[in-house]
Amino acid sequence: MWIDIAVQAPAHSQVGGLLTYHSPVSVQAGQLVRVPFGQREVLGVVWAMRDQAPADMPATSVRDVLGVLQGLPPLDASWRQLVQFSAQYYQRALGEVALSALPPQLRDLSSEQLARRLKKQTDRTVQTTPGPALSPEQINVLDQMANGPGPFLLFGSTGSGKTEVYLQAVARMLAADPQAQALLMVPEINLTPQLEERVQARFGTEAVVSMHSGMTPAQRLKAWLAAHAGHARIVLGTRMAIFASMPQLKLIVVDEEHDPSYKQQEGARYSARDLAVYRGRLQNAPVLLASATPSLESWHLSRPATKGDSGGRYQRLLMPSRIGTGLLPKVRRVDMNKQPRRAVLSTQLVAAIQERVERGEQCMLLLNRRGYAPVLHCADCGWKSDCKHCSAFRVFHKIDRTLRCHHCGLTERVPRACPECGNADIAPIGRGTEQLEEHLGELLAHVLRPDGTPVRIARIDADSTRLKGALESQLAQVHSGEVDVLVGTQMIAKGHDFRRITLVAAVNPDTALFSSDFRAPERLFALLMQAAGRAGRDAAQSATSEMWVQTFHPTHALFEALKKHDYPAFATSELAERTAADLPPISHQALLRADARTQEAAQALLNAARETLQAQLSADPETADLVMQVSVYPAVPMSMQRVADVERAQMLLESPKRMALQKTLWHLHSVLHQLRSLPEHKGVIRWLVDVDPQAI
Ligand code: ADP
Ligand code: ZN
Ligand code: ZN
Repeated sequence: MWIDIAVQAPAHSQVGGLLTYHSPVSVQAGQLVRVPFGQREVLGVVWAMRDQAPADMPATSVRDVLGVLQGLPPLDASWRQLVQFSAQYYQRALGEVALSALPPQLRDLSSEQLARRLKKQTDRTVQTTPGPALSPEQINVLDQMANGPGPFLLFGSTGSGKTEVYLQAVARMLAADPQAQALLMVPEINLTPQLEERVQARFGTEAVVSMHSGMTPAQRLKAWLAAHAGHARIVLGTRMAIFASMPQLKLIVVDEEHDPSYKQQEGARYSARDLAVYRGRLQNAPVLLASATPSLESWHLSRPATKGDSGGRYQRLLMPSRIGTGLLPKVRRVDMNKQPRRAVLSTQLVAAIQERVERGEQCMLLLNRRGYAPVLHCADCGWKSDCKHCSAFRVFHKIDRTLRCHHCGLTERVPRACPECGNADIAPIGRGTEQLEEHLGELLAHVLRPDGTPVRIARIDADSTRLKGALESQLAQVHSGEVDVLVGTQMIAKGHDFRRITLVAAVNPDTALFSSDFRAPERLFALLMQAAGRAGRDAAQSATSEMWVQTFHPTHALFEALKKHDYPAFATSELAERTAADLPPISHQALLRADARTQEAAQALLNAARETLQAQLSADPETADLVMQVSVYPAVPMSMQRVADVERAQMLLESPKRMALQKTLWHLHSVLHQLRSLPEHKGVIRWLVDVDPQAI
């Protein structure tokens, strides 16, 4: 018996990921097996049976399967199809995608060990406790979900009760079929515990398993087995959970569907949100995408039908009101042109913070830059603290007096004097969260809380939360009221249900307005709306809650829309610009990136690929159309051109037709393999393709 097996092969090996083996015993598609691979023994997934050995392979050279992992039900056809589609769409080897979708510990287990793990599995009981009486908007949304196939885009304000809708949808699913399974996805690990608590409170601890990269290998295996065996009713996880084996999947929810972290940034660069829609169709499970600021992709796909346009493929559902009498915070713009030069915090904002602290309320300040200052500078000779390995400055961290590169990690003590000219007077330029925290401490030093104790300021960012458990304990301090003013990066803007925060301020959001990345305004708007959603979550306080924006461009359309909490207005104007410029979601993009020792070598490969590709496509009447349908741009250096001594260049491919882009990428793949072996491209370290990239 000959079988094709998916094995993990190194990314650029010629092995596409399916290898033919011979099996002395009968096996089924989807079973896990151990096979010899070179000198090693590796885990593989049985993909397909074949009648005979492949033509280019003498039957005697086909190796034997070493063993089958017994007791484990085969991975079903829909799971295999999901993996196959992902590999194809995101241009990766099938074996790589298949194996990285499995818990790593499966690779090391013998059949006996696995049998023991499986024995411990029991069917998990669900105890559904009833939720609150639903709001009319929630009822309406659930009714629409019951009456349509989806996919659905739930556009609901922060605090409108979206999470409650997910829980009710799960409850309805289980009422209809007690064996059904639901997949709930959240963008960030640190949001899983909150949702996990709510889900467990509703359905019992047994019914839920989590899946995210913060779990130990043993925990991941256990959760995976529970989902795969159909015991876990609800899988809650980050983007990786999209590949969970769930044979009874009947509902998929993607919370904060606009969040960029649904896009994987290495290996197969998949979008878990987009795969959720594909998977839902595959397994006939309704898909609910939800956000207060949907991605423009999903918003566009859910556009209502108008004259001359049959509308989008998603059904849009609306929940505009906050639960209870809760109002959205009042947005206040501070014109920084009218502040003293170099002022970090406007006098009005400092006064407002003081007032709130004295009333016992909490404030939150956002600054999207960690460290003390983004660069150190010598005014005498012009030296700056750049990184010798990257095209970036090293950031000044005052706490341990280091200069750290946030790209390659290079860390050195701050020099006593300028390394170039010896001037002792080197000074920081710009501000990070560390400096903001220090600065606030000085400005608020005299401020007392209602009980007469001094104000307490805390900072949450990637630096303050480096140690395991640090983030949890810092969040707990905010929740319990031990912190009055919280300073942080976007890490604190997302999702957290801080009940006592009544004022949120964006300290310096302007840079995103003029970024070269066309998605920067969309990100900024989402971030500010999210941040605003952190204020006044307690309905009793919501009437007096505020979102402050310090800006040099107070009349910018983005801030006008923010002031009115008007996402649709923002989306309409942003989509008009995207349409005029033929950018996504109107067109589809892919990036080909090359890394090399020199920038010339990186660009040379890309430009050679472009020319060869266009020559080959034009030469064949079957593919000549693709040249017209897909624009392939010349190679350019990436905006972060050098990282860790590697030069990086990229080439953009763009097309109004997704399918034409896909076909072109497949041709490009073989062109790259042809070029790779040529001596003039020896300097190239690697290349990679990013389909539907999140940043250009
Ligand atoms: P979202 O996910 O849209 O931000 P949540 O589902 O977290 O909103 O709801 C916000 C708050 O309102 C939560 O504290 C939640 O428990 C509460 N809530 C949601 N739906 C209802 C309801 N129908 N009745 C009473 N409280 C509700
Ligand atoms: Zn100098
Ligand atoms: Zn560096």
